[in-house]
Amino acid sequence: MINLVLFGPPGAGKGTQSEKLIEDFKLVHLSTGNLLREEIANSTELGLEAKKLMDQGLLVPDAVVVGMIGNKVKENLNGPGFIFDGFPRTVAQAESLDELMKSHGLSITNMIALEVDNDELTKRLLERGKTSGRPDDQNEDLIRNRIKEYKDKTAPVASYYDAQSKFTSINGIGSIEEIYANITSILK
Ligand code: AMP
Repeated sequence: MINLVLFGPPGAGKGTQSEKLIEDFKLVHLSTGNLLREEIANSTELGLEAKKLMDQGLLVPDAVVVGMIGNKVKENLNGPGFIFDGFPRTVAQAESLDELMKSHGLSITNMIALEVDNDELTKRLLERGKTSGRPDDQNEDLIRNRIKEYKDKTAPVASYYDAQSKFTSINGIGSIEEIYANITSILK
């Protein structure tokens, strides 16, 4: 079973690479960003609360995303494994994910980080904003906040997985195929 944490700042290409991994490995894709946007689209109370923070480029509380992931993992225990995309984003979330997996007799097998510099991230997100319809991709100040949240709160998650010898960092700049080949060589 592969239980992969696909890691990296906003705009690193996690979603793009996830799409290819789902196709080839049939993994269940769990993106907390997508799950939150679904909540917003359905105008749930959770979605409306989360939107206030997402519209500022800030992280939503750990308990909210951990709860959502817990439900989705439970619903897909008979699958071939999971890709966690955009989660965990704090060390507390990583600890909760370990506990959650353990409670089902599972564990995270790999954490792969896509490395992309800030200028390239900003360029990619603004480009994506032209078609994604995401307000947080369309404003440079907001993008800066998201990258700052990543540096302050999310980057330390790499050390958490490194301490468990599960962390690999790869260059996130290059062709989609090249990057995908690097990811699959780690998984195989
Ligand atoms: P993403 O689609 O992964 O870029 O996430 C969009 C926004 O959703 C982020 O800027 C956060 O506000 C929120 N979000 C997504 N995943 C998480 C998470 N694991 N922890 C906290 N906030 C999150």
